[in-house]
Amino acid sequence: MKEIEVRTQSKEAMEDITSKVIEEISSSGIQTGMCSVYVPHTTAGVTINENADPSVMEDILMTLQKIVPDSLPYRHSEGNSPAHVKASLIGSSVNVLIDKGRLSLGTWQGIIFCEFDGPRNRRVIVNAFSF
Ligand code: ZN
Repeated sequence: MKEIEVRTQSKEAMEDITSKVIEEISSSGIQTGMCSVYVPHTTAGVTINENADPSVMEDILMTLQKIVPDSLPYRHSEGNSPAHVKASLIGSSVNVLIDKGRLSLGTWQGIIFCEFDGPRNRRVIVNAFSF
């Protein structure tokens, strides 16, 4: 089990962590298996989507803002309920197959850390399993 540290710079952000995950897979030496990427936070998540055009990530954040308005009568006293809801919509883990020592991501796919209540120091747990 390895940990990646992510230092987010703004309240909301989507940060490409693909290269950091690839480093962990390379150092594991696993040729065929599965990589699990897990975010142990309640107001952040992880997803797989396009990492070639940064506009895609901006569009996802904009859409989540519309789906989860700041103005609802939330009850959670900490005041960050929209961040909790967005984190649940995005999810806290992704799995990617490892084939010939490489992640089986599509050409345009990347592993994206999603911050909804930053800026903060965040942890991402990477586990690789051999088949
Ligand atoms: Zn909270």
